[in-house]
Amino acid sequence: MFRVFSLYPLIAIIKPMKNRENKLALGGAFENQIEYCNEVISLNRGKYPKFYIRTLGCQMNEADSEQLMGMLIEMGYQPWDKIEEADFIIFNTCCVRENAEQKLYGHIGELKALKSKNKDLITALCGCMMQQEHVVEKIKNSYHYIDIVFGTHNRYRLPELLHKRLTSNKRVFEIWEDNKGIAENIPVARQDKISAFVPITYGCDNFCSYCIVPYVRGREVSREAKSIRKDIEELAKEGVKEITLLGQNVNSYNSTMNFPQLLHYLSDISGIERIRFMTSHPKDLSVELIEAIRDIPSLCKHIHLPLQSGSSSVLKMMNRKYTKESYLSLISLLKEEIPHISISTDIIVGFPGETEEDFLETLDTYEKVGFDFAYTFIYSKRTGTPAAIKKDQVPDDIKSERFNRLIELVNRLTEQSNKADENKVLKVLVEGKSKTDPNYYTGRSESNKIVNFKADKDFTGTIVDVKIIKAHSWHIEGEIL
Ligand code: SAM
Ligand code: SF4
Repeated sequence: MFRVFSLYPLIAIIKPMKNRENKLALGGAFENQIEYCNEVISLNRGKYPKFYIRTLGCQMNEADSEQLMGMLIEMGYQPWDKIEEADFIIFNTCCVRENAEQKLYGHIGELKALKSKNKDLITALCGCMMQQEHVVEKIKNSYHYIDIVFGTHNRYRLPELLHKRLTSNKRVFEIWEDNKGIAENIPVARQDKISAFVPITYGCDNFCSYCIVPYVRGREVSREAKSIRKDIEELAKEGVKEITLLGQNVNSYNSTMNFPQLLHYLSDISGIERIRFMTSHPKDLSVELIEAIRDIPSLCKHIHLPLQSGSSSVLKMMNRKYTKESYLSLISLLKEEIPHISISTDIIVGFPGETEEDFLETLDTYEKVGFDFAYTFIYSKRTGTPAAIKKDQVPDDIKSERFNRLIELVNRLTEQSNKADENKVLKVLVEGKSKTDPNYYTGRSESNKIVNFKADKDFTGTIVDVKIIKAHSWHIEGEIL
């Protein structure tokens, strides 16, 4: 769940207001919203209403929520971490898997009770799920206590939509079918002062046959390199040390430059010590990109490269555009050029038509690559995607049984990878005190592993040398040198 800091508001409210003139001068689609921000402030007359945002889903949704928070702070609202005390509640939704959709209706139910206690409460739903017509119809007809509904493409219009609701007392529904360009200069309320997500592309053109993302996030568009650089320079000035460039298919970035060129262009920003990116598609992993990872010192020697399946015939049915063999060749090249690179992945089990032999190919590929970590998913039918109408759906019990076998392998190799770090000295970017044990500090290695260690001094925000003394299943433990 998204982190919300209740002590943050005062600093955050003042800052965007100071920048307002500057933003007007910069232009961009958010410019038209500034007047609505001012209108909302005057409607609230000296009050600082509280808002609560719940983010479901991936890093892209988290980045979107940081923009929603930024805009709300611009409108004089303050972030609040107790939902029951909030004046405005937004749920930013996900629909990648069916259970996310089912869960949302549970979350919405919570709003009914809150609304009955507080008649002035305003409720909003946004994000991927709202791009689906059947969902919006259901909300319109059956959930009358939802006041505002908007999608992924018109997120930047929140000030206008909120203003409409505050002035008309009518429910507001606005969904756009596709991107109409990228809105720049949207204020962002960063949740992490050391590490920041920076979206560089929106949407996806790949249409993997199981995936709903291209339908709800629209066609792929790349931000201008200059705007990306400007954002990162600002972040560096604010003290951010690590950035993660985000895109559904981040390495198909294409503006006046391609992705490896963009990485070089961003690599000399003073203060940014680490650059990460996700998610890469194997079909766009070029030799030029591998060389960029090898040659740019601030680029972490880690790649998240979703395999999805190790069977070439399943990969064809998934429309992934690579084979088991071509994937393994890429891995060989990566390891040849960057010997200590860490590699993580996404795997789906139980895609329609997947046989036991296909599944064994996945286990075999997983073992051959020796992944450091994986996000594992049971195939979930998404209405509107080609795979959902395939006749040969895999029965649930077989999916679960395969999933358990996969998890066993993933855990074994992750532990092996963690064990291999014992006695090594790793560079760790310190994020702060551990949340589970206040005697420890926590940070991440270049390979993106969580490293916990004891220290007498607070090194938050700096990169320190930590000697790894013990491997655990989900983190490694060390001592600062
Ligand atoms: N664009 C990224 C990519 O291609 O890897 C991430 C997109 S998606 C939000 C993250 C992961 O969800 C995918 O890599 C895939 O493994 C999984 N996923 C997507 N659709 C799915 C489905 N219908 N059932 C199960 N897992 C799914
Ligand atoms: Fe979905 Fe495939 Fe696009 Fe990733 S690359 S978002 S899995 S369609």
